[in-house]
Amino acid sequence: MDHRPFEDWLLAEEPLTTQQKRALAAHLQVCPSCSALAEVNLSLRAVRQAEPPAGFVNRFQVRLEAQRKAMRRRNVLGFVLLAVSAVVLLVGLTWPALEAAVESPVDLLGSWLASLTNLWASLQVLFHAGSVLLRVAPGFVPGYLWMILLFAFTGWSAVWVLSLKKAAKVLQGV
Ligand SMILES: [Zn+2]
Repeated sequence: MDHRPFEDWLLAEEPLTTQQKRALAAHLQVCPSCSALAEVNLSLRAVRQAEPPAGFVNRFQVRLEAQRKAMRRRNVLGFVLLAVSAVVLLVGLTWPALEAAVESPVDLLGSWLASLTNLWASLQVLFHAGSVLLRVAPGFVPGYLWMILLFAFTGWSAVWVLSLKKAAKVLQGV
């Protein structure tokens, strides 16, 4: 059996004339090979149509961006809630002092100034002691002491940030 024109017609993408269609249909009825090819062709076309339509990727990206925005908004909301609750907690804890401040702002200002002066004085003493130590015995303050201080500070900061994040998650209900 000669399949030549029919195979070409099946594989070609151009539309067939009515006469060609009729001839092809007649051949497919008697030729299992060409009808199998026609079936494969049909399923291939179906697969091609099932591919994401144009603009699908675009829409997907738009949706992804919207989700990201919503997440960012939730993060901001969580942070605001955290900040507000921190302020509330702080106010609650320091309420006696605040009450005193409301009643006698001048007194509190005075005690603040006094504590600031104290802090400054102790810092000066520390600096002085440090500089004396460095001048008298440069080898007395080992280098690793600074490393230990740096590590301690870094670790403390990490713990603080982590606890903030955890609190934010709890607030978001995650
Ligand atoms: Zn055939």
